[in-house]
Amino acid sequence: MSHFSIRCRKCGRTLENSYCAFCEHCKDSLLVTEYHDRRFTESGADGIWRFNWLPVHQPTSVQPGPLVYRSHGLAKHLGLEHLFIAFNGYWPEKGALLETCTFKEFEAAVVLQNARENGVDGLIVASAGNTARAFAHLATATGFPVVIVVPRMCLTEMWYLESSSPVPTLAVGDGDYSDSIDVAKRIALATGFPFEGGVKNIAKRDGLGIVMLEAVSKIGKLPDHYVQAVGSGTGAVGGWEMAERFIRDGRFGDRLPKFHLGQNLPFAPMLHAWEKGSRSLFPGDLDPELIGHITTRVLSTRYPAYSVQGGVFDLLTSAGGGMYGVENEAVYAGMEDFLATEGIDLVPASGVAVAVLKEAVRKGAVGKRDTVLLNITGGGEARLRKDKQTHTVMPKFISKNATEKDIEDLLCHDLKKSS
Ligand SMILES: [Zn+2]
Repeated sequence: MSHFSIRCRKCGRTLENSYCAFCEHCKDSLLVTEYHDRRFTESGADGIWRFNWLPVHQPTSVQPGPLVYRSHGLAKHLGLEHLFIAFNGYWPEKGALLETCTFKEFEAAVVLQNARENGVDGLIVASAGNTARAFAHLATATGFPVVIVVPRMCLTEMWYLESSSPVPTLAVGDGDYSDSIDVAKRIALATGFPFEGGVKNIAKRDGLGIVMLEAVSKIGKLPDHYVQAVGSGTGAVGGWEMAERFIRDGRFGDRLPKFHLGQNLPFAPMLHAWEKGSRSLFPGDLDPELIGHITTRVLSTRYPAYSVQGGVFDLLTSAGGGMYGVENEAVYAGMEDFLATEGIDLVPASGVAVAVLKEAVRKGAVGKRDTVLLNITGGGEARLRKDKQTHTVMPKFISKNATEKDIEDLLCHDLKKSS
């Protein structure tokens, strides 16, 4: 028997042994994993597979987890007494060993293992950058067929660990991240490999929720505040779902952390909707033109998990906290502050998170003595380049209007090779 089932957030219907499922009654609701074991436990295994609350049975790969540590430098700079940092990236001197330099590596590891255990033969993944690198790396390492679709505008910031990868990468030349998701869904139909499912894939959210598992394991209780930059919001929702499990467990606190979530201005659809108390996003905030003005392209999805039942609107309503808008200059300042006080480089999205924390402290939303978890979702790229060569991504180009024939022509050679 499996150690988990999947439950609809809205109607409560429970499904056993299903892969990447949707509720048949409620089309706009997330399903969440219900682990039969209400108590959080850790086995003696290394890395992420030691946690009992993951939707996998027999992982074969080795996967390092986040580095969670108590901050001294940034904590002092901000006047905080109990600041904990979840550093997801490469910083071997401290014990952070994610060579893809992103917390998306946990998502990829759990999604691929969960898919394999469900008899799935391959996956189509859409990404704005980080997710592509994480999936390309782990798909190559484990020999699992994956096709990756990215927007051309993100290519300049993208890199792979492998120089040549058996993982085909398609770049949508005439569209953004959301167009890439549309193309990925069409490729899934044409190839018969499922689309990875985005926020609706429970393995994705539980994989990103590993940051909360590691943090509570290290701190010994739930933090009072959780701080992160959000694009789709999937990582924050994953953290919230894990926090709810800890509350049901009962030994780690009885109050959800407040979630302080940041977007990079001027592209901030969730911020504007939340400020007006609206569950729906405003179409004017989703204008692709705005994406050209932000420094963090990985935060550029026009399909965030905000309105859906169990998404970011419900998270903030339930847990408290709020949305923050961060200007480009504040992103760079956040990156510089972190490098100066903690001693490691950050990716821009993590600069957004540092800026959010500064603002939350400034306006008194986070108190001096509160326990704070700052989720640094990516960092150490400059540090990695001292040890390893990284590689530019060499994609094939595809149009957002590609036909089934175009898709077959582009992919038939690759898929034959990998099957
Ligand atoms: Zn339902």
